[in-house]
Amino acid sequence: MPVYICPNCKNRSVDIDGFEGLTDSDALQCRRCGFGFIFQLLEDYYPAPATGFIVCDCDARVLASGRGVFELTGFQETDLMGQDVAEVLTLSDRAPIGVVREWGVRQLGLELELSTSAAIRKPVTVDLFPAYDEDGGLLVALTPRTPGATRATG
Ligand SMILES: [Zn+2]
Repeated sequence: MPVYICPNCKNRSVDIDGFEGLTDSDALQCRRCGFGFIFQLLEDYYPAPATGFIVCDCDARVLASGRGVFELTGFQETDLMGQDVAEVLTLSDRAPIGVVREWGVRQLGLELELSTSAAIRKPVTVDLFPAYDEDGGLLVALTPRTPGATRATG
């Protein structure tokens, strides 16, 4: 059963009543906050309270960023829009994004670093999800990471 997640308020919805399926797939909106994108996941995912989501197109360019991204990166959505996500955040490894785009598989628990708008390196856990619509694209979940600490899984 498809699970939808709002990149802004992180509201997860399982399409029990067919609401999402009934609407035009280009016009999917968050039922809670009205954000213009909701993202379909094959399997359920539970973001951390501090997780921020970035929605990218099939070229890994930023389409939208949700709540929490500014707190984490110092970048406003307008700073990120249209930029290559790995480039604008100076991700320490951009290869997993290529894997997601090429193979359509998710990549979870990647321990990477990004650079904030003030050029401060910050350790983050990155989860990447491929989009399942015909447009492709991907969802990037950024969670602050304490160096050395192990993230609880599950
Ligand atoms: Zn929402």
